[in-house]
Amino acid sequence: MPTLRFHAIKETYNRVPIPVTEPERRSEIFGKNVFNEAAMRQYLTKDSFKSVMDAIENGSKIERHIADHISTGMKEWAIAKGATHYTHWFQPLTGATAEKHDAFFETMENGQAIEKFGGGQLVQQEPDASSFPNGGIRNTFEARGYTAWDPTSPAFIYGTTLCIPTVFVAYTGEALDYKTPLLRALQSIDGAATAVAKYFDKSVTKVIATLGWEQEYFLVDSALAASRPDITLAGRTLLGHSSAKGQQLDDHYFGSIPARVLNFMRHLETECMLLGIPVKTRHNEVAPNQFELAPIFEETNLAVDHNSLLMDLMHKIAEKHNFKVLFHEKPFANVNGSGKHNNWSLATNTGVNLLSPGSTPMKNLQFLTFFINTLKAVNEYEELLRASIASASNDHRLGANEAPPAIISAFIGSQLTNVLDELEKVTSGKLSPQEKTDLKLNVVGKIPEILLDNTDRNRTSPFAFTGNKFEFRAVGSTANCANPMTVLNAIVARQLIDFKAEVDVLIKDKKMKKDDAIFNVLKEYIKDSKRIRFEGDGYGEAWEKEAKKRGLSNHKTTPEALKAKVSKKTIALFEGLGIMSKVELEARHEIEVEDYALRIQIEGRILGDIARNHVIPTAIRYQNMLIENVQGLKNIYGTDFKKFSAEQMSLIEQISEHIAKINKGITDMIDARKKANKVEDAEKKAFAYCDDVKPFFQVIRYHCDKLELLVDDELWPLTKYRELLFTK
Ligand code: ADP
Ligand code: MG
Repeated sequence: MPTLRFHAIKETYNRVPIPVTEPERRSEIFGKNVFNEAAMRQYLTKDSFKSVMDAIENGSKIERHIADHISTGMKEWAIAKGATHYTHWFQPLTGATAEKHDAFFETMENGQAIEKFGGGQLVQQEPDASSFPNGGIRNTFEARGYTAWDPTSPAFIYGTTLCIPTVFVAYTGEALDYKTPLLRALQSIDGAATAVAKYFDKSVTKVIATLGWEQEYFLVDSALAASRPDITLAGRTLLGHSSAKGQQLDDHYFGSIPARVLNFMRHLETECMLLGIPVKTRHNEVAPNQFELAPIFEETNLAVDHNSLLMDLMHKIAEKHNFKVLFHEKPFANVNGSGKHNNWSLATNTGVNLLSPGSTPMKNLQFLTFFINTLKAVNEYEELLRASIASASNDHRLGANEAPPAIISAFIGSQLTNVLDELEKVTSGKLSPQEKTDLKLNVVGKIPEILLDNTDRNRTSPFAFTGNKFEFRAVGSTANCANPMTVLNAIVARQLIDFKAEVDVLIKDKKMKKDDAIFNVLKEYIKDSKRIRFEGDGYGEAWEKEAKKRGLSNHKTTPEALKAKVSKKTIALFEGLGIMSKVELEARHEIEVEDYALRIQIEGRILGDIARNHVIPTAIRYQNMLIENVQGLKNIYGTDFKKFSAEQMSLIEQISEHIAKINKGITDMIDARKKANKVEDAEKKAFAYCDDVKPFFQVIRYHCDKLELLVDDELWPLTKYRELLFTK
């Protein structure tokens, strides 16, 4: 009798929603545990406050003696809120967040103790971080890593710990985390976009990139999740036959939220409010037990920190509600996977969304400028953008006919397509007054009007314009948004810099008027970037063929996709903008291919173990029952027994066949792993795991799932899909 599965199921029968207390008004507790402007005003001297604000707004340096004042204020604030410890909170390249707590408490020579937290401890720390991935950087340079305060993301209290967002870098300056290159990319886009925005409004002095992520996830009862070794160790099911009912009836999407889940969400959202994470939207997703959460968009660095913090928070709060959160992109076969749409735009310090059409032709020319430059950047760097979302887990989603394909393309809707078609016809060189008037009246002037009824929503596009922002939909649900956001902001920054240079040349050398010059350059860009625009069905086979004709990349696996991260073009891009050096890029590439191989290796081991030690013995047990039955029939009926045991005999044979195939699959897979492990080069090893090891997963799974259908349910040891997906 498979006790674990049935114990787990029994445990779920007694579940009741865990009560939660919510504030009457969320606004009252919003940001209460954040060292935000209000808290700083209260706890900092005027000079310190000014210095932090200046660092946030202008990226200026904070003097050391000022840091001492800030740390004192921060400590007072934190202790008043019950904090006993502090930590530098950072995002190493493992994908998770890292923290090491130190107590404020310190002893003095006279044997007494005080609570201490100095400027030095605020500004910089040296975590013993030798076991964070570094892709060989720290060996090469024999340098140690340190964390340094990022004043642009406010400190917060989580539990009883003051958390200080930091970057993590080697002493030799190389970035060892996600945040450092992101901050550099955000600086690039600020500079580049501000310069272009000044064409339209001289008073613009700063542009921020905005990010609004939408986080999808599954919730599985914790007892059921714990009963499955694959969910426990790999965060997804490696086998399991589909449930008779899945998502066919579309009855989960936007349906009423189950009571236990709703309490989890309310609890989570209350914690988010305290931490200043502006969550706003919650709903059921397409697959059973799949949900989504989205905040109001924020400045990108802050939004990325908030997403990382949220994911951590979700694990902790789910536990309290007897759930396990699955962030994996494809935890269950044959139902939808999870993504993390990244809604992205650019906003000026004057409060203008640069990707939002305005009320005048000039404002719309500004909109078109940023819109078309973004398309051009995506066209130019589609391969790098694809690489920015590559991971072993996201491979299950991209190109799997339910999620954006592995081909990057941009959807803009029929109305904007018409506008671009018109703009493409603009005369080269100086425009006649008549043409200009026509353009302004009939093309550029009409945009807000047409966008209002632009209800086009193409869910199959990986990069879609949705009225006043682009939505990068191919990002995986486990991803740290910093990775795609670094790339997106970098490529648009590069593009805007090039654009400005071209326009300036036309203005200076060809004596063109500013808007003539802009029209001229945009017109060329529209032509150049046509291949990236695709309005049709991204899931269809026809698109794959068409994309190939257009010369767009279609990298279906991570090792293949990642190559673009170290291409000459990418190195030139990142070095040119001062975001990452060749050494840093190569180190990151190495970490990512290594991570890929390790994940496939772990999954291979788990699958081998489950198939051999759980599935096969169970199948044999059931087969023995059948054999016993056949023997009994023979005892009773003599030679007539065949008439009554045909079904049983057939089952006995089928079971043997499946067992043989599973065994062969496992043996072959282990051989392939052994071979792959001997490969020294990290990238080649990743390819070996991808091409030679991974294909066995399907074979082994197929036969295990067939056995699941044959074997007595009472004997089956693994919690089934229907139990995992429909227990609420
Ligand atoms: P939907 O796309 O589901 O119809 P919305 O357009 O309201 O819904 O927004 C979806 C997400 O886009 C939200 O997380 C929101 O914060 C984000 N978003 C909206 N405007 C912007 C913007 N200007 N920049 C970045 N993200 C944005
Ligand atoms: Mg959306």
